[in-house]
Parts: sequence; structure tokens; C-alpha cells
Amino acid sequence: MHSILKSPLGKELYEKYAKNLPIIDYHNHLCVEDILSDRVFENITQLWIAVDPYKHRAMRILGVPEHYITGSATDFEKFEKWYGCLPRLAGNPLYDWSCMEFQALFDMALEPFTAPAVQVYGQVNEKLKNLSAKKILARFNIAYSAPCATLTDDLSVFDGLEGICPSLRGDTVVAADEKFLQQLGQITDLAAFWQAVEKRIVAFTQVGCRFADHALDHGFAYVAEDGKNEGRFCKILAGETLPGEEKLALESHILRGLGSLYAKHGMTMQLHIGAKRTTSTRLRKVAGPVGGYAGIGSCVDVGALTNLLDDIERAGGLPKTILFTLNPADNAVMSILSGSYSADGVESIVTQGPAWWWCDHAQGMRQMLDHMSVYSVLSTFIGMTTDSRSLLSFVRHDYFRQILCQWIAEKVEGGYLPQNEEILGDLITRMCYTNAKTYI
Ligand SMILES: [Zn+2]
Repeated sequence: MHSILKSPLGKELYEKYAKNLPIIDYHNHLCVEDILSDRVFENITQLWIAVDPYKHRAMRILGVPEHYITGSATDFEKFEKWYGCLPRLAGNPLYDWSCMEFQALFDMALEPFTAPAVQVYGQVNEKLKNLSAKKILARFNIAYSAPCATLTDDLSVFDGLEGICPSLRGDTVVAADEKFLQQLGQITDLAAFWQAVEKRIVAFTQVGCRFADHALDHGFAYVAEDGKNEGRFCKILAGETLPGEEKLALESHILRGLGSLYAKHGMTMQLHIGAKRTTSTRLRKVAGPVGGYAGIGSCVDVGALTNLLDDIERAGGLPKTILFTLNPADNAVMSILSGSYSADGVESIVTQGPAWWWCDHAQGMRQMLDHMSVYSVLSTFIGMTTDSRSLLSFVRHDYFRQILCQWIAEKVEGGYLPQNEEILGDLITRMCYTNAKTYI
């Protein structure tokens, strides 16, 4: 893979200040059961390819039949196809990540791809026999990792998992239906709903949860309080389906209320903005809801977003809020909002998150750094998170750290940042670790 750290100063800063910092990964989708049972993966396909929609997407772009992606081909055949695709992916972050993952975990270089697939498969599977989920995680110096859990999930799975705490996936609460309400408990009205929700939020915080997240997808809209949500809620309780506008009003009510509860209980609200999850109906049927075929949505309705934040703020104060955008055209919009809700004595109550999902590559990270430095305050950046299902994805923190140090070195060499190691070291340490630490 190409060298990210081209500048000697970038290399020096990375080695001295970034490389060995612990990792705080405040939003991911790791399988907690795999960690709890300390799963030993039977082969590299199970660990590396089966759970990774990014790879599935790339294989489909290259015309690989679904049989070899999510179909009934053998694990070796699936590996062989993916391995065969890799040389054609140079320039895509999957290429860089794959090379880094093999190096970090197996001490093996994938490049120049001259080794036959069957040989690589055999060698790696041999090494995997001595690795387990916990041993893989132990390679990455992780201080805090936050896999998603829904409000009604059993939290006892997190008992005894040092440094692994749930991140509350709030979308099922916002889209509460009769089934969800039954899981939540004896809910008779809106007041009982909020009581039950708060009780669960407290239970989450007691096992170390500090983050919640919500998807504000393409077409996100918002309705202010109109005093009619008790009636709408009772209809849901009775098993009725609300028409579009009514549903939106109740969902807005719940999102607002959750924002206030997050503020009350010291949790950070992450808003993932701008995914277009429904594209091909055919692929959705084949690959499920997260099959790697999602697109980037249109730019966010800024009015809807600012009204939501304003209403939560007016109701008693905003929680710490991280705005992630999938649409790079919204980078400036997200950065600038960090100055729109500033609260007394609180650093960066609203902030832009790292380059997210399809934007999680060198170009996307650099764009985010460019925008955050001019529209906001770069040194308040919360740092990288993987948002990944794969145990190997923690190499992306190293990827980010290298890109950051190279970017900083270029700014110094261009005269935009001071040639003062103390200031640069402090900036890097904050952006890779200490800022995120203040959130947990
Ligand atoms: Zn996520």
C-alpha cells in the first residue's frame, strides 16, 4: 500500500504522539456475543468477509455473482473471489484497510498479490487457530469500545467485559410500535412510556453507556410540539398505524424527549445524517437491510435539524451532540453548527464527527479536517470511531492517525500551523485520544 506518512515531520509526529495512544471507539457494531464467548473463527472468510458489507459492495461492483458473496459458495471460494478483487481496488480504502489488517494481525504482506489464494488462505487459517475474539481485540490497545444495543436489549452481556460498554441505538425508540411497547413493559400512556424509557436509560448508564445514536436519513423532516402526541401515542398503543404526517409528529416528539433525557443523564447524542438506505429493492431482498448498497442522500434540511436542536435546547439544554454527515457537501454545514448552540463553560457542546461510512477514507478525512479547521475549532475534534462490524477495523484508528499527522505536517510546512512541537503534540493527543476521553 502507498505510504501515508510522506513528510518526515509527519512521521516524527506520528511516532512520538499518535501511534501508541489508546483507542476510544465510541460507536461500532461489534457482535458482543462473539466477544463474550471469545469466538475462535474457523477461517478468514468468517472473520474478514462474511460480516463486511463494504467488501460485498465492492465485489458486486466488480460483477462477482452473489453466490460468492452472500450465497452458498464455500468459505474458500468466497475468500478466493475477494482476494482476486483486491488488486483492482487500489485507491479504495478497502485496499489500504485490507493491507493494514493483514499486517497488524497476521504479520503478513498482501501485496504484491503473487501468492496463490489457496496458499494465503491456508497460512492465515493456521494463524487464526491461535487467535480468538478477545485476543484480536487485545492487539489494538482499546480503552473503550461501544457496540450498539437497543433499549430493550439484555445488558447483562456486558458484565465482565472490561472497557466494552453499550452505545444506545435509539431508532427503535423513536419508531416505537405496539411490539416495542410490549417489550418495554406495562405502558398505558405517554407518561408511563417516558418513565420506562428513562429507567432503561439509567440502566444503560450504569453499565458505562455514554453514547446514543440516531439515524436522520435522507429526507429527514421534523415537526414541532403541537400538543397532540398523547392521542397519537394511544393509537400506537392500540396497534394502529399512524398516517405519514402523524407518525412524523410523534417520532419528532420522541426524538426531542430522548435528547432531553440524554442531557439529563450525561449521555452524548450522535446524529448520523444523510444516508439513503433504500436503493435497490432487489438487493435489499438479497442482502438484507445493511447489505452495502446504501447511497448518499441529498443535503440535509438544515431548518429541520436546527429546529430539532433548538427545541431540545429550549426544553432544558442540549446533550453533547455529534453530527455525522454522509454527504460531503454538508461538511461545512455540520462544522459551522458547532458554534450555533455554544453553552456556558462547555467545550464544543455540538461538534462535527469524523468522516463517516462511505466518506471514511483518506480524502474524506482530509476534507473533514479542512472544514473543521476553518469553520470550527479543530482541537476540539472528538476523534475517530470505526462504526464497523469487524473486529479488525480498529486498524482504521491507525489509518486516521497517520492521515492526521501527515495533514498537520503539510500545514506546518505551508506555514499555517506553528513549528512548535508542544502545540502540535497537544493537538494530536487531543484529537486522537484525550478529547474522546472527556465523553466517557
Ligand atoms: Zn453505526
